[in-house]
Amino acid sequence: MSKHKPKVWPATAAPLAGPVMDNHTHLPLREEEIPLADGVRMPLSEQLDRAREVGVTRIVSSACELPDFDPMLELARVTPGMRVALAIHPNEAGLHAGFVDPSPDGLVPERRAHHVALIEALEQVACRLDDPMVVAVGESGLDYFRTAEPGHEAQAESLRAHIEMAKQHGLPLQIHDRDAHEDCLRILSGSAMRDQRVVFHCFSGDRAMARVLASNQWYASFAGTVTFPSNESLRRTLEEIPRELVLVETDAPYLTPVPWRGSPNASYSIAHTVRAIASLWQTTEEKACRQLFENSQRVYGDW
Ligand SMILES: [Zn+2]
Repeated sequence: MSKHKPKVWPATAAPLAGPVMDNHTHLPLREEEIPLADGVRMPLSEQLDRAREVGVTRIVSSACELPDFDPMLELARVTPGMRVALAIHPNEAGLHAGFVDPSPDGLVPERRAHHVALIEALEQVACRLDDPMVVAVGESGLDYFRTAEPGHEAQAESLRAHIEMAKQHGLPLQIHDRDAHEDCLRILSGSAMRDQRVVFHCFSGDRAMARVLASNQWYASFAGTVTFPSNESLRRTLEEIPRELVLVETDAPYLTPVPWRGSPNASYSIAHTVRAIASLWQTTEEKACRQLFENSQRVYGDW
């Protein structure tokens, strides 16, 4: 979080030169989930209007906690251009499996529907995957940053279950990988996922990992983190990934790109990340938008 700027809602960026898809975000379902900036919660309708103004014509919003599944699907039914990725988040998997050890980063998890056993929670994902609003399984994966060691096996079990669901339903799989690169790659490689549509959301790996992704034809989705001054190595990695395997996302309300770091994020601020990618590719904004949009459609289809 930047301490140098007052926390305000980012201004709407200048419209992009072409349409883009925010392939991973968390749209707020309840007013209290909208962050406060300058004392104000920007209504979702305004966030979405601004996104359209900027050129975000497609949004994939992740519902990765049990109580969010149905409200997110209902929101998609009434929101043009929006679809849903559905899964039990890796940090939720540990909680559903009964592991409530303090998080390594000191965060106390919110208890919501965690009395539901992991196997039942996974069934709640599976039974909704034929919903026409669902375009992906995600985010599933491993998070060794927020979940303590005893919960790691539950995360792996949950990831394997999501891999099977993605295969059975012919859906792309969004991977959440935080401080767990090696184990994520090991589980995916052991699950015959080569040439399947796999997206590493908010990619944070190094060049060696990028090469593994490319050799499997897996996608790397870049969030606002690629604009952070300290992330020079991530920018060098992005330059090396085949362009047809690069996606863009906000992961809002987190990871707001420069120059609005520290303010709440929303899909309309994706413009700064798209422009950063265009500049790293040394191409025009129009060509970058087209490439990113084509990649997104190849993964998620058209709607
Ligand atoms: Zn996310």
